[in-house]
Amino acid sequence: DMQIAGYDDDLARAIAQEAQRQEDHVELIASENYASPRVLEAQGSVLTNKYAEGYPGKRYYGGCEYVDIAEKLALERVKQLFGAHYANVQPHSGSQANAAVYLALLRPGDTILGMSLAHGGHLTHGAKVNFSGKIFNAVQYGVDEQGLIDYDEVQRLATEHQPKMLVAGFSAYSQVIDWARMAEIAKSVGAFFFVDMAHVAGLVAAGVYPNPLPHADVVTSTTHKTLRGPRGGIILARANEALEKKFQSLVFPGTQGGPLMHVIAAKAVAFKEALEPGFKDYQQQVVRNAQAMAKTMMARGYKIVSGGTENHLMLIDLIGRDVTGKDAEAALGAAHITVNKNAVPGDPRSPFVTSGLRIGTPAVTTRGYKEAECVALANWMCDVLDAPTDDNVIAGVRDNVTKQCRAFPVYG
Ligand code: PLP
Repeated sequence: DMQIAGYDDDLARAIAQEAQRQEDHVELIASENYASPRVLEAQGSVLTNKYAEGYPGKRYYGGCEYVDIAEKLALERVKQLFGAHYANVQPHSGSQANAAVYLALLRPGDTILGMSLAHGGHLTHGAKVNFSGKIFNAVQYGVDEQGLIDYDEVQRLATEHQPKMLVAGFSAYSQVIDWARMAEIAKSVGAFFFVDMAHVAGLVAAGVYPNPLPHADVVTSTTHKTLRGPRGGIILARANEALEKKFQSLVFPGTQGGPLMHVIAAKAVAFKEALEPGFKDYQQQVVRNAQAMAKTMMARGYKIVSGGTENHLMLIDLIGRDVTGKDAEAALGAAHITVNKNAVPGDPRSPFVTSGLRIGTPAVTTRGYKEAECVALANWMCDVLDAPTDDNVIAGVRDNVTKQCRAFPVYG
């Protein structure tokens, strides 16, 4: 028998415990989701064994005829899903997709203008601790006091610093970005316009968030967030042969070796699922659920950055309250509600403590929650945040959360 259980019980137990945690805890981390059993099946397949450096029809290894089929299916589907002329499905992660894009279009020392991590951008948009902030001269924009992107300020920074690339996209922004306006700003200074739509890719695929592709020179995404596929990255672009050639060669051999063919097969499955009509219903429900939670929390006196949400996520602003983001994350965790602490605009506390929480509804919507469940959940969260050190409150909420989770099993 070749199973892990009975051979490596320590590991088998950890995997079983994680599966149970995913069933019994409510998952509100905005970047997470539950991949379908079909996606898991592809990712656990023998395609993991295959070396396939190169691209379909142009490989450096023999025996690639079947993995070529998988990669071509992924390519066709993702292009259809987003209306892209060009796609690359090989990036191992969102960060690697971004690395390939930067290195394809820029030289070390060039100036980039991206959204700061502290205001909702991603590490790879120019943070000091990331390669993007080390290799390039990164200038950063943020949000105003209302928590909104100030396009006039982005224009001012672009005019002042003359970046070679403007980066848009976010890990923690609950509003719609005006892609056309951003493209105009990039054009005004002759910069490339790069959109990282990792967080909203599923919403974009379903038509419930504007598609950046008509406006950007290049778009990247992860495949495991709202898009609900395996962990991984993609690069998409409009027709521009010169740029496409660069993206191809900067993924392989520029920044990666052999592609993860099992993951590419899992991406192909996820893109097929995303092309089905039910995916639009799912994404619409994701947004309705997020809005129901925001409304409930605001009615309970909690401040939501930018005053609500137009997508799958929101930031709860705890500035001026006794409870920190770190303590709130721990108290909610004890009640089996999984969230992450997050800096909020103007946060006086350190990034390890913070004065905020980020929550999102992709995962709970996949398990079947509708507005009623989300309103109940938001009220339980407020109960805990109102009394984060009260063990009785936490125990009561944990009971309610457990019952709610059991009524909506993830994998049945
Ligand atoms: N881009 C954005 C906007 C993200 O939010 C993330 C993930 O958090 C990434 C890129 C990076 O993706 P990965 O974790 O796959 O490297």
